[in-house]
Amino acid sequence: MKKILAILLAATMMVPLAACSAQQQSGNNSEQQETTAAQAETKSSQTENDRETIYQVALLQSLTQGYYDGIIKVSELKKHGDIGIGTFEGVNGEMIVLDGTVYQALGDSTVQEAADYETVPFSNVTFFDKDGSVELSDIGDVNALKEKLNAMVEQNGKNLFYFVRMNGTFEKMNVRSEIKQEKPYKTLDKALETDQREFNYDNITGTVVALYCPDYMNGLNTPGWHFHFISDDKTKGGHLLDLKFSKATAEYDATPEFDMCLTDNGDFQKMELSKDVSDAIKKVETNEE
Ligand SMILES: [Zn+2]
Repeated sequence: MKKILAILLAATMMVPLAACSAQQQSGNNSEQQETTAAQAETKSSQTENDRETIYQVALLQSLTQGYYDGIIKVSELKKHGDIGIGTFEGVNGEMIVLDGTVYQALGDSTVQEAADYETVPFSNVTFFDKDGSVELSDIGDVNALKEKLNAMVEQNGKNLFYFVRMNGTFEKMNVRSEIKQEKPYKTLDKALETDQREFNYDNITGTVVALYCPDYMNGLNTPGWHFHFISDDKTKGGHLLDLKFSKATAEYDATPEFDMCLTDNGDFQKMELSKDVSDAIKKVETNEE
């Protein structure tokens, strides 16, 4: 936690992009042994670093503009974190990663464990190591929750990333998911206009998983909070729109490093990713116009 913020994007982009992992071609036998030892060393140091790294697949901006093709497999994503949020190829449901399991909250309101071969067009994960917690009470809506969590962020440093996990019983829980999209893909706000499905639950016990991105992330993701939810019995969940609860503990993990996985796919390379889609992002994240 004493490490300074290291943006690892440049380093990541030097490895082969297609796989988002530094896989090497096997050489002859003697070289191969050396390579294997070097790889093992790299792997162990990578694993240590990964615990304090936000790993991001693509950009919220590419997803918002309609790039829904999977970039990495669920099996690969799991190597980079045990907590997280995201979605699946074709925006086939909302992703909740909790305790190392990747859940898929589908548009028909059911939740399933995502298969390792499923692919991911957008996600953020990290390994959760609790740095502290905040006791919350009488939270009337999602904005009140954001206010309390922002106070925690102000106290700990607003220019770090945070993952929060908050287990509790929620008097009100309003989540959404969406129906899987088929090609040609529409932009996300257009897709959600017809294919968003909202679900309202009362007195439901489960876990809110949340990511906080600092203000300077508005070109790659969205500043502030992004909440997903999954019930304790793993049958209900989605992208959180609103909630109400009387008491819960929010545990947080402050995270000072950032790593990003892109694709060399031609359609992705044609995208204009500096285009300002912040209004569309606000609309898809919060349901607000
Ligand atoms: Zn979401």
